[in-house]
Amino acid sequence: MLYLVEHFYSIQGEGRYTGTPSVFFRFGGCNMKCEGFGCIEKASNGTEVLGCDTVYAVNKEHFSHNWVPIQHPHQLTSILDQYELPEGVDIVLTGGEPLIYASDPIFIKFLEDLDANGHTITFETNGSIGIDFEKFPIYKECIFALSIKLSNSNEPFNKRVRGDIIYSIASESKEAFFKFSIDAESINLGLEDEIINIIMHAPKTKVYCMPLGGNKAEVEANTEPLIEFCKSKGYNFSDRLHIRIWDQNKGV
Ligand code: SF4
Repeated sequence: MLYLVEHFYSIQGEGRYTGTPSVFFRFGGCNMKCEGFGCIEKASNGTEVLGCDTVYAVNKEHFSHNWVPIQHPHQLTSILDQYELPEGVDIVLTGGEPLIYASDPIFIKFLEDLDANGHTITFETNGSIGIDFEKFPIYKECIFALSIKLSNSNEPFNKRVRGDIIYSIASESKEAFFKFSIDAESINLGLEDEIINIIMHAPKTKVYCMPLGGNKAEVEANTEPLIEFCKSKGYNFSDRLHIRIWDQNKGV
């Protein structure tokens, strides 16, 4: 069973395709929690739930009442009819972690339908779930933003950094790039080695670093230190436009 948390038509707010008009599908569920990011969201019963900036798309226990069960690919493709879209508009699949559904037949058919209709498909993924590119060749037509989690996520290293999976996605997909969320404090704690130990699994893949934060104030506080970090290491800085413009991560 797939779960869709939300969908919206906006511009891509971060990474290599910042500014590109895109329809976002946010799927529910993730194989991680990333409580180290320290974002807190209040559930409907008043419980404060700790996690990442999309904890409402991760924590099934407290937020799944807002998740829509998907039982047929048409439920997803028909969403595109709700918007006035340019032909072949980009599609971004995010979460949570959309690749928890990587082998689901409904999900595969959805991808194939999107591709057949000329859409560019980009996954925003934590890069820790393997894909069978031979069994599901549709993934060879997709772009992957590899947002590999760093130690500031508080997830165990062996879970968040899977060199074999990073290499497989970077070498077998249409295109891949790294995208890291970084705060000022982590820069001072020797983050460079962590990044090097991740990107060595796909050395020719471009690196984008984004300021960590679930709201505008946090993103702004982390921006200048991160720009200096990018300048010194030769990485690309990526803004988080949707948070800077709308001060939130939901539905924009
Ligand atoms: S992997 Fe991504 S979606 Fe999952 S908990 Fe971590 S930051 Fe959130």
